[in-house]
Amino acid sequence: MSNREQRHQRRTVMVTGAVGGIGQGIVARYLHEGARVALVDLDPVRGEQVVEQLRAQGHSALFVQADVSDFHACARACETIQAEWGFIDTLVNNAGISPKHDGKPAGIHTMEPEEWQRVVGVNMNSVFNLVRLLSPGMIEHKFGRIVSMSSVAGKAWLDIVGVHYSTTKAALIGMTRHLAGELGPHGITVNALAPGRIDTPLLKTVSSQANDLVIAQTPLRRLGTPDEVADACAFLTSDEARFITGQVIDVAGGWLMT
Ligand code: NAP
Repeated sequence: MSNREQRHQRRTVMVTGAVGGIGQGIVARYLHEGARVALVDLDPVRGEQVVEQLRAQGHSALFVQADVSDFHACARACETIQAEWGFIDTLVNNAGISPKHDGKPAGIHTMEPEEWQRVVGVNMNSVFNLVRLLSPGMIEHKFGRIVSMSSVAGKAWLDIVGVHYSTTKAALIGMTRHLAGELGPHGITVNALAPGRIDTPLLKTVSSQANDLVIAQTPLRRLGTPDEVADACAFLTSDEARFITGQVIDVAGGWLMT
């Protein structure tokens, strides 16, 4: 990590999917930069363990269990964080799923409607839920920073993900641009990141040969790390990016560049 201590001092950040691979990198980056961070994720046991470790290191961290596809669960999570810390100025919509079956995504001709709905709920509706819930406060404070985790799969054909994944990641790009336009006049920036292959548990859901092929096609010839996604995320919510909104930044080592 580069030395940017205190860049997010006095900021309250909510990160979804916060105990997953990229999420933990993002949480660590914000804590390192002086923010207090609310970690939202599904598994309370893992979440509380992570938060306990972070607190032991002297950080301000809070775990809130919520299924982000559920509007009411999101509302309860926001209320819990606001009761503790007040205004949430920064939202990182990072939670996402990419279901596989024996290492492969279901094709459109075999995909169960329930699986489609689940991916739409977690990857896309979650962003509506949380922006809907947090934007009134951001408008009131005339300040807000929102970053959503899209993917290069939202911009290009990839056979290692299903149609639900690519559709929802493309949708986040449309949402980002729309919300940037709608919320910009209120001092709120809205951006997205499009990671390539990042070395996390999600990546283990595909074969190692599939990952080797990605490395061969990536100009920088390696997978990315959660820290590298976190660096881009923290840049977008920092004061250095105050005039950047509605953008989608690839963090992909040049893979599938457009
Ligand atoms: P990950 O390691 O699987 O972490 C995702 C986290 O989100 C997990 O902790 C997961 O909990 C949590 N989660 C799943 N469903 C949730 C829900 N309904 N509500 C709240 N939390 C939920 O994945 P990752 O690789 O860090 O990916 C993070 C984001 O980056 C995702 O949006 C992903 O699509 C995107 N992305 C990743 C890559 C990559 O190569 N890794 C590339 C492009 C984009 P459980 O483990 O309990 O399910």
